[in-house]
Amino acid sequence: MGTPALQHLTTTTWDRDARCRTDGISTHLFFSEDLGDIAAAKRICAECTVMATCLEEAIRNEEPWGVWGGQLFLNGRMLAIKRRRGRPPKHPRPEDQLPQIPVPEHLRDRIRTA
Ligand code: SF4
Repeated sequence: MGTPALQHLTTTTWDRDARCRTDGISTHLFFSEDLGDIAAAKRICAECTVMATCLEEAIRNEEPWGVWGGQLFLNGRMLAIKRRRGRPPKHPRPEDQLPQIPVPEHLRDRIRTA
């Protein structure tokens, strides 16, 4: 059984519904540097009913790093991995294969491209 990812946070009304608090989901996925783990964390977030609120809180709290609200944070900033121009490469870079979770419109100005 894993440790719920948001266990370190004070419980609020919204994070009681956090999918990452489900038994069997490990915090490790949300704070890993492994692209496979990051992708898994983003897929968990994609099915979370409180994703937008989580993302707003992560931005407000200036979370230094990890996956929050379906997005990857590094150095306190929300990163976007943009698709490159032109034909897709024959051998895609690993980070190009991370799930792309749409950022709510009102938070898009907070994205920094990688
Ligand atoms: S969006 Fe992701 S990190 Fe946030 S509460 Fe849901 S599962 Fe956890």
